[in-house]
Amino acid sequence: METPVKLIVGNWKMNGLTPALDEAGALRQALEADPVNARVGLCPPATLIAPMASTLGAGPVELGGQDCHDKDSGAFTGSVSAPMLADAGARLVILGHSERREGCGETDADVAAKVEAALRAGLEPIVCVGESLETREAGQAVAFVTAQVRASLPDALKERTFAVAYEPIWAIGTGLTPTLDQIAEVHAAIRAALVERVGEAGHRAPILYGGSMKPDNAADILAVPDVGGGLVGGASLKAEDFIRIIRAA
Ligand code: PEP
Repeated sequence: METPVKLIVGNWKMNGLTPALDEAGALRQALEADPVNARVGLCPPATLIAPMASTLGAGPVELGGQDCHDKDSGAFTGSVSAPMLADAGARLVILGHSERREGCGETDADVAAKVEAALRAGLEPIVCVGESLETREAGQAVAFVTAQVRASLPDALKERTFAVAYEPIWAIGTGLTPTLDQIAEVHAAIRAALVERVGEAGHRAPILYGGSMKPDNAADILAVPDVGGGLVGGASLKAEDFIRIIRAA
């Protein structure tokens, strides 16, 4: 069987004003000058999606949002819907990031409803799961993450293209990463849960690793069985660093 190409996605979180579009432009130029055998995405804050769509054009970098509402429109002050993201030029959307699960109280059911909204709008969801340090230290990481996978993925995914990102909460923005064996263990468990949950689509979905992925650890992490790519926070803000991670894929 052919090895699927990796999916490497940058999550800018709540970072980036207009001048940061230059980083997206530099990324596009670098990948056009020296193409990679990987899919690459950038998820800037909502305010930069439309201008970044112009910067990236039809080049090799796909554009995504970081969240969407589960309704398509209505009286939800301050929220952004999936059709709005698509209208602004997004193709991908990160959903269920731990910063939203923890900071905004999003439940697995909320995430599943957002995934349905994303699919209605033709977006490709990247559904995040991951355990806290407490859960890992209690020996419950695999059980916790697989339960999140089962409850966060709606039936509608059975016929669709999507990705899952395993992001241990304690590894996000901390410089800490799990061992390669720990990553392999969780990714294998997620794969089994995906197949059980959505059948054939669960075989195809890439499982990204996220949490302090950097230029110097990316090659080792991306070589772990069933690591189908990376979700990269801090190291995606500068094109120079992000390109080094992408080239490790
Ligand atoms: C993230 O928040 O998705 C992430 C992986 O962050 P970082 O790479 O900065 O740990």
